[in-house]
Amino acid sequence: MFIEEVLRKTAEVLNLPKREVKEKMSKRIIRVLKYKETVYVVLRQKVRDLEEGTSIILGKRSVKVVRGYPPIKRVLLIRKAVPRHFVDYVVVEEKMNGYNVRVIDLEGQIIALTRGGYICPYTTSRITRIYEQELKNLFAQLGEEYMVNGEVVGVENPYTRYRYPEAPRFDFFVFEIRRTLDNTPMPVQRRREAVLNNNLRSVRQLAIVRKDGVDRIIDIISELDHEGREGVVLKDPYYRVDSLKYTTGSANISDLSEGMRFFFDEGRTYLFSRILREAFRVYELGDEEVPERIGHAIFRSMQESIRTLDQGGIIADRFQLVVSNEDELYEIISFFEEIKAPIVSYRVKERTPEGLIVEFLKEKETDHQVRKILETGISPVD
Ligand code: ATP
Ligand code: MG
Repeated sequence: MFIEEVLRKTAEVLNLPKREVKEKMSKRIIRVLKYKETVYVVLRQKVRDLEEGTSIILGKRSVKVVRGYPPIKRVLLIRKAVPRHFVDYVVVEEKMNGYNVRVIDLEGQIIALTRGGYICPYTTSRITRIYEQELKNLFAQLGEEYMVNGEVVGVENPYTRYRYPEAPRFDFFVFEIRRTLDNTPMPVQRRREAVLNNNLRSVRQLAIVRKDGVDRIIDIISELDHEGREGVVLKDPYYRVDSLKYTTGSANISDLSEGMRFFFDEGRTYLFSRILREAFRVYELGDEEVPERIGHAIFRSMQESIRTLDQGGIIADRFQLVVSNEDELYEIISFFEEIKAPIVSYRVKERTPEGLIVEFLKEKETDHQVRKILETGISPVD
């Protein structure tokens, strides 16, 4: 496909003059990418009323606009927010800790997009291997104007690694079905039926309570906290008002501890947001051990990272993927290059009937900064 055609179709969808589209492309607000034979366009910022992460996929027969998944507001004071925000009933769903994926049916092909709007070849391949028929059945029932929004969880992925007992390696849990073109969500009960009837997995529905039943919600959160799980997303059964999210103390603190291993990367932004969450959680619900736990979470991870480098190691993000074959491995590596995910190295660890087990190391800024500090003794920040 020629760039002129991409420009024309993009301008048409965005209802912008081609000149403006060109300008946004040169500023990389709009990116043009390719997945196998398919050309697609990603919005890296909001453009008009289209969310960041929106993809415009230029298929052979059609142009498909896949709207970005909207941000969910966070609750700090649950007793205050819930009765004020909701209409009558609140659906309490588990919030799973993985990465946001939109699955679509593109002219008969199952395709998985990340939150940023990129078609991820790895996620696409693994979800297809597990759920191709189930997803095709669902799309056959609903029509291909829908997308399936869900969380990929487990440790075998390049993005977010958290081991769930019900999905330790890789699985996909649906939390919404929406129309690709306008992002309209399907009501909760209808969606759950569509998901379960087609043998897909759904995030857990933990309760449906009246909006003044906050005590019940707090009990549920406390149980999740003890189990080390992430939290809840609270939804109106018909999406008449926005959904809200709330995370547990254990999730906030383990984020800090994970994030501070890379204290010049994630650590910086994690610090303020997680401490803020804990400050209001403790103010509202109480928890005497929090100050100590926060202190340990932050300091242990920093000390470990410094010591790792001091002893000749490296600070890098390490993860394992299972890929079908060499071709897929190269496709994934070039995808990482395209999205500028700095991979330091990779090696095939094992060949199994399932595929190749490949170990990757992703570069971290913390490595460079701490190396320099250990060498010069001078701080890069004041
Ligand atoms: P934001 O949504 O504000 O951009 P974020 O990307 O940092 O924030 P989180 O803080 O993890 O994301 O919270 C929102 C995300 O939670 C959703 O994008 C989705 O991927 C994930 N999620 C997990 N379980 C659910 C659920 N039951 N309903 C909706 N989203 C869920
Ligand atoms: Mg998340």
